[in-house]
Amino acid sequence: MDSHNSLPPLPDEGPWNDPLPGETERPWEEDLRPQGLDEFIGQDGLRENLRILIEAARMRQAPLEHVLLTGPPGLGKTSMARLLANEMRVEIRQTSGPVLEKAGDLAGLLTSLPAGGVLFVDEIHRLNRSIEEYLYPAMEDFRLDILLDRGPNARSVQIKLEPFTLIGATTRSGLLTGPLRARFGMVGRVDFYPPEDLAEIVRRSARLLEVAIEDSAIVEISRRSRGTPRIANRLLRRVRDYALVKGDGAITGELCQRALRLLDVDERGLDEMDRRILRALAVTFEGGPVGIASLAATVGEEPHTLEEVHEPYLVLQGFLQRTRLGRCATRTTYEILGLEARPSTGSGPQQETLL
Ligand code: ADP
Repeated sequence: MDSHNSLPPLPDEGPWNDPLPGETERPWEEDLRPQGLDEFIGQDGLRENLRILIEAARMRQAPLEHVLLTGPPGLGKTSMARLLANEMRVEIRQTSGPVLEKAGDLAGLLTSLPAGGVLFVDEIHRLNRSIEEYLYPAMEDFRLDILLDRGPNARSVQIKLEPFTLIGATTRSGLLTGPLRARFGMVGRVDFYPPEDLAEIVRRSARLLEVAIEDSAIVEISRRSRGTPRIANRLLRRVRDYALVKGDGAITGELCQRALRLLDVDERGLDEMDRRILRALAVTFEGGPVGIASLAATVGEEPHTLEEVHEPYLVLQGFLQRTRLGRCATRTTYEILGLEARPSTGSGPQQETLL
């Protein structure tokens, strides 16, 4: 029997897309997270700064200062927060900006945290303003001023907290208010990973998953992971499944190529949604400029997902340009799509780029 024809359809694009709104844990990611600073691959500058922060806190026998981690999704912010808590040998509680709705939610988390513990707030730019204001005295003086009742009966109670460390993560540091940002002792940025670092991450993950993998497959997966460890790990898992079903479980270069083709991830790591965005920009909007809302509506995605998940890599690679007037196609956009570029299409410098 030719097993190649009897392959059941692979799950569609879900596995390597980003989590659904509200989904905070991805159980299968847990076993691949680096547990200590030495296991965290790449981001050398940030790692060194954090190492010093940890050492200094240990020497002073004080909790770690509050840390803000910024950068696109899937680059290791949550892993970094977890490993900082590990390195400090303290407990960590995890929540996210949109989930913290009431002052009581915040109070519950902070009062249950043992001394020196870490509160990790993902998507901290999405905290509502009133919670943010409760955070200020908590961060500065380890106290919460909770307002009880409203109107003439209003009174506030003060809750003393144990010293703690707030680690915030955000994909949109520009949306953070000045006062909140100012209360962090350190701001660290995680960047897209170069292919060499991604290769090392894939090699490590394959070792943890106990799967044999050829070097050429490692190179291929790293190349197509858009600089993002989460995507590299997802591709590795899907390719591992393919190798299990179609081969003897070992990931050869050839099986890897075939699996990636089936998964519809192209040479540049672009997936179905990336290509849809570029096509809408180049064809539907004739190269732009077009506003993010119109572009998002055309491809059937939320504007903030487009901005936070897809755009950063497309911009970095020069596949899409953000200008004051809106998003524009570049010459490369047309090349990728195999289309003739419009004569007026700029490739960069002549358009005013929005930073
Ligand atoms: P973020 O919080 O920025 O969205 P995560 O910390 O959840 O990203 O990382 C996603 C996955 O990528 C995790 O499963 C983790 O194992 C892996 N990962 C991220 N950065 C690294 C790294 N530097 N070294 C090894 N694995 C990493």
